[in-house]
Amino acid sequence: MRVVTPDNAGMDEAARLLKTGGLVAVPTETVYGLAADAFNAEAVARIYATKGRPADNPLILHVADKSDLDKLTDHLPDYARTLADRFWPGPLTLVVRKKPDILPWLGGHPGNTVKTVGVRMPNHPVTLAIIKRSGSIIAAPSANKAGTPSPTQAEHITNDYKDTAQSPDLLVDGGTLEVGIESTVVDATGDKPVILRPGAITEEMIREAVGAAVIGKAANAETPPLSPGTKYRHYAPLAPMTLLSGTAEAVASFITTQIVSEVDAHIGVLASPRVLACINKNWPVMAVQSDSSYTPVVTFLPLGDPHNLPDIARNLFANLRRFDEKGVDIILAEALPAEGLGVAIMDRMTKAAEGRFIRLGVTG
Ligand code: AMP
Ligand code: MG
Repeated sequence: MRVVTPDNAGMDEAARLLKTGGLVAVPTETVYGLAADAFNAEAVARIYATKGRPADNPLILHVADKSDLDKLTDHLPDYARTLADRFWPGPLTLVVRKKPDILPWLGGHPGNTVKTVGVRMPNHPVTLAIIKRSGSIIAAPSANKAGTPSPTQAEHITNDYKDTAQSPDLLVDGGTLEVGIESTVVDATGDKPVILRPGAITEEMIREAVGAAVIGKAANAETPPLSPGTKYRHYAPLAPMTLLSGTAEAVASFITTQIVSEVDAHIGVLASPRVLACINKNWPVMAVQSDSSYTPVVTFLPLGDPHNLPDIARNLFANLRRFDEKGVDIILAEALPAEGLGVAIMDRMTKAAEGRFIRLGVTG
């Protein structure tokens, strides 16, 4: 995999590769995407093979122009056009009814039954220019190997593909990305928008734009998930992670107790400055046998300030990957209130923790 800077020559090479069936990792405002020409069935099949993506998990298309929506669907509800006008280019994917005679391979295998297609216009000048120069529409899921956190820095992609048989042909290095978590996915096939995956375009922003009730339907085991990607293990670091909610003092005290009692484990801690400041570092005194030489192995990573949720979102996946690099055995992470952008952050953190959640200091 060649790595290029996002200058004219780099963007030209990316567009040329896309035109000839190549795979290019590209920066967007959310996470890096693994792009192929959506109209080239073999190139789209290579996305699945390279990522190791399950065949029933459809790909999001990325367009460089709002009017491209009409090339993909004949059924665009008024609210969907309103949302595209309001939030494109931006981190909002609209799942619309696909024209029946186009792109049969987007669900992963020829002749599949996916009748819808997810579309967005990314807000990143480099990728918009690459799509325009390719003269097509690109299919681009997140560029990570299936199962790892989405990449928000170029080195996340070089790491994911360094020992793999198949890799992207080219990586356009766009540095660290603005949003850091994947787009909001909205089902726009019914009479009201339904949020399938939370993201930086929040429920409040959607309600405000369309003035309608937004009903989020969670996928569960009995009914087939509307957004197939939501059923897979996602965003997860290698070590088991547990979320902790409560006052800064309660969370810090729980973490301190774990550090002094899990003597053989390398513990990873992801917490805000307030919680980190409350952690008692007088380890030897607190150690199980009050051992004056006791120094636990702990990796502290800064979650960020809960008053600056965009900053937390931007760094979240890089932090999770950092714990993998450090080889921690367990991760303790501070939970956030699920409000505004916090809904999307907590969605990713809950998936990374595979549901492990401890509420501290709750009585009665
Ligand atoms: P990714 O691009 O890998 O970050 O994930 C894209 C997400 O959008 C996954 O959760 C997909 O299942 C979802 N998605 C893509 N296309 C559709 C579609 N046509 N219908 C429902 N969900 C979709
Ligand atoms: Mg993904």
